[in-house]
Amino acid sequence: MPRAPVYLDYNATAPIRPEAQEAMLRALKVPSNPSSVHAAGRAARDIVETARTQVAALVGVPAGSVTFVSGGTEANALAIESARACGFTRIVVGATEHDAVMETAKASGLPVEAWPVDARGVAQLSWLEAELNGPGRALVCLMLANNETGVIQPVAEASVLVRAADGWLHVDAVQAAGKIAIDFSALGADTMALSAHKLGGPQGVGALVAGTRATLHRRQHGGGQERGRRAGTENVAGIAAFGAAAEAAVRDLAKLSEQTQWRDALAERVKAEGAVVLGEGADRLPQTLCFAGEGFGSEIQVMNLDLAGVMASAGSACSSGKVKASRVVEAMGHSNLAPFALRVSGGWASTEDDWIKCGDAWIAAWKRIGARRREVA
Ligand code: PLP
Repeated sequence: MPRAPVYLDYNATAPIRPEAQEAMLRALKVPSNPSSVHAAGRAARDIVETARTQVAALVGVPAGSVTFVSGGTEANALAIESARACGFTRIVVGATEHDAVMETAKASGLPVEAWPVDARGVAQLSWLEAELNGPGRALVCLMLANNETGVIQPVAEASVLVRAADGWLHVDAVQAAGKIAIDFSALGADTMALSAHKLGGPQGVGALVAGTRATLHRRQHGGGQERGRRAGTENVAGIAAFGAAAEAAVRDLAKLSEQTQWRDALAERVKAEGAVVLGEGADRLPQTLCFAGEGFGSEIQVMNLDLAGVMASAGSACSSGKVKASRVVEAMGHSNLAPFALRVSGGWASTEDDWIKCGDAWIAAWKRIGARRREVA
């Protein structure tokens, strides 16, 4: 019998939820543009506005705070560009931020300071406090949860410091949304990036949430869609699916939190083999595990797991299909482990058996590699 593949790469893209597929198909059957005033246009508008309410509920904000965009990357860029247009003169970026934030900040033309993290991957608040004493109003970018390690950052604590310094706090919640409960106001964020495909919606749709202190400045010119904040006809079907996925993700939060046990069981198994768990001891997403077995290259691990029917990722992003040493693990001060990091991430359809099979496959490959090394030595 062919083996059922095991998919544990939700932090790259979660499989689309059935609710999202259904919402998408329903929306595709509405033959209209949400800006049209006739009945079909109004039906399309209703779909977009229902989804806005669903996405707003994901982070506890009024629907009007949500601007739909093409994904997490654009949401981050819209926040950074808006802060620049509002006169913020420098950017502080968490050292383990995603490239969507890090590279956009660098490309903004403003001075960028990397905010160091400790060995667990947690941003250091004392460093931020001192940094905010410097001249100029700062945009501070701090992700809610890291895409590689799942480490959750002290966003609410940082927001107190940012507010006191009259700064702007942008939170990339692309990985956290739908995996842990999020309260935008309690976190004290000014803007927050979300992406549909990390929580069971389709790729190519996301949102920027903006609080009352933040003014958004459009990046592209054209029509007045999204109340003038984002020109271009809305991706109605994608937005509908995003809304449905967000609603389902909120419903499933408690169930997802149970994956902590499966994740920790895998962690114990690989640690018994000599691997190191990255981010251990910090608050982490319930379904993300990042570990490194020294000498067992990330790419080789991914290939060995794939041959065994298990899909996971190298610790680092491999958007170009090429695996680099993990910048996140390096920023945590574990440069020796960076080329060996593996990320395992489950989600709404994962089972305990998936995590067990992943452990079986990894341990078998680790033992093979070890045996080969002993033969050579
Ligand atoms: N931010 C984080 C933390 C991510 O993990 C990703 C995607 O991997 C993004 C932003 C980019 O999101 P998108 O793929 O929707 O552009």
